[in-house]
Amino acid sequence: VKADPLAQRALLELAEIDTELVQLAHRRRTAPEIADTERTEKDLQAAKDAVVTAETLAGDLDRDARKQEAEIDQVRARTVRDKGLLTGANAKLQSELGHELGTLQRRQQVLEDELLELMERREAVELDVTHARDALAAAQDAVTEAVRKRDLLTADLDSTEQRRDGQRRQLLERMPAELVTLYDRIRTQKGGKGAALLNAKRCGACRLELDRSALATVRAAAPDEVVRCEECGAILVRTQASGI
Ligand SMILES: [Zn+2]
Repeated sequence: VKADPLAQRALLELAEIDTELVQLAHRRRTAPEIADTERTEKDLQAAKDAVVTAETLAGDLDRDARKQEAEIDQVRARTVRDKGLLTGANAKLQSELGHELGTLQRRQQVLEDELLELMERREAVELDVTHARDALAAAQDAVTEAVRKRDLLTADLDSTEQRRDGQRRQLLERMPAELVTLYDRIRTQKGGKGAALLNAKRCGACRLELDRSALATVRAAAPDEVVRCEECGAILVRTQASGI
């Protein structure tokens, strides 16, 4: 492949842009802002679940307490009824009612103790609900902040990427297609640099120094000849800094 030396030099600029584009893509995948957003979103889901759990338990206890109160009301009504029957009752009935009133009183005591216990648990759960809601609000704030930072980063990456893409397109317009095709092929095959400066006898891509015979080949090549590194395959761009 032959190409004008100026076009060959443009490869250096192209390689620099491509290196930055690869770094930008890497940053996009690995930025802590991305991981932070995912983590805070997970935390938020856990916080939502905790609120639901606490509120469900509170609701269950409220329902139990209402049932308990209804039962106590029944016992009290029965007590009032029995007491009403006492007046004017014969001795046998009085004895029966007295026995039942004793049972009712004990029953009421048990039910009221249970209700008290329920209400104490309900108070404790109310604290849990409050804490869970506070944690949820904090988790929501954390997500908002993480998303804000991630969006800032993304916008920054987007604009840099667009700028570099534009520069790349402009550059390509001025370069022979054959040279660009070769450059792109080397780059995709090797996954590294497609072109680099031959700097003080070293390949700028793999950093290896060219041996005597490789240098002789490069020296013998015409300026418009495209030469490549024998080690890494990168196109070697020659300038005054090349040391040949
Ligand atoms: Zn090399």
